[in-house]
Amino acid sequence: MQNFEDRTRRCRRRLRERGAAGVVLFPSPNLYYLGGFHEEPSERHLFLFVPSEGDPAFVAPELYGDQIRDESWVEDVRLWADGDDPVELVAETATDLGMASGELLADPTMWARFTQDLRAALPDAEWGLADEVLGPLRVRKDDAELDALRRAGEVADAAMRDVGELGDDAVGMTEADLVEYVEERLVAHGGDGPSFGTIAGSGPNGAKPHHRHSDREVQRGDPVVFDFGTRVDGYPSDQTRTVVPAGDPPAEFESVHDVVREAQQAAVDAVEPGVTAGAVDAAAREVIEAAGYGDEFVHRTGHGAGLEVHEEPYIVAGSDRELETGMVFSVEPGVYRPGEFGVRIEDLVVVTEDGCERLNRTDRGWRT
Ligand code: ZN
Ligand code: ZN
Repeated sequence: MQNFEDRTRRCRRRLRERGAAGVVLFPSPNLYYLGGFHEEPSERHLFLFVPSEGDPAFVAPELYGDQIRDESWVEDVRLWADGDDPVELVAETATDLGMASGELLADPTMWARFTQDLRAALPDAEWGLADEVLGPLRVRKDDAELDALRRAGEVADAAMRDVGELGDDAVGMTEADLVEYVEERLVAHGGDGPSFGTIAGSGPNGAKPHHRHSDREVQRGDPVVFDFGTRVDGYPSDQTRTVVPAGDPPAEFESVHDVVREAQQAAVDAVEPGVTAGAVDAAAREVIEAAGYGDEFVHRTGHGAGLEVHEEPYIVAGSDRELETGMVFSVEPGVYRPGEFGVRIEDLVVVTEDGCERLNRTDRGWRT
């Protein structure tokens, strides 16, 4: 619970620096980040009010009362029953917390019906977005978050080692079979389900960066792009390896793979505090362009990972965002040959004082 309280303290400090009255969150990663309570959004009014001074409070449907008290450190939990008007309780709570006027920062993913009710209940408030204060906090992971991210990476690595051992057994399996195997292995090694739609792209399907899986059977000599992750304590892993389970790969595959691997290494080597995200993207892109494959590297080099699998910072061409210690993001260059094959290699990294630490450590070669 200490981590959630520490984050809330840092949030309050930023609110005061900005002169804002508070943040209003609804079920989302932001609410979990501060409140420690996880729930999917629903049609019932559920908010966490975090004032710039004093203690936060939940306004929640009565049926969530026990769940919030069990999971969250926040003690002030104000419940409304089906049949009550939750908007009255919202107005009363905001007034008690000094959040009836001034600048309030709302969760960016809050449903419009709730923002409308908040505006109606608090006509004297001005509205902004909570990411203004929570974005800079969430982008630098604290020790509890790094611990969960490291463990999620270890689970993905263990599953990838199992995949690498399939060898000849992979021939004749469909991509869907492979995905089922990967997801079973992730759970077996302690993961909490897949962190996003598992990708197994064999042969020409590997050339579609967002291909998930199909009924195509793996043939001898097919490269297969395996991109998957799991969650541990709410935090994801996300790694990619491109391997040839059996037989000899197509012409030029080996040289493309070498280039992608070199590009990935160059980008990882470029990571350190103060360097821009754009410079990391450029480090990967220059290697691929120099090899003549520039037109076939069709996406950004990486994305941040935390409570959301895709979040800040984005490692994209031209970004002047400076890297800071504790940021976690993917480094995942790829080269895609439509109709033939694709190659992508991805690790999550955390920025350290003098460089970075990879959260994925399995072999990056294509021979399994
Ligand atoms: Zn991935
Ligand atoms: Zn990724």
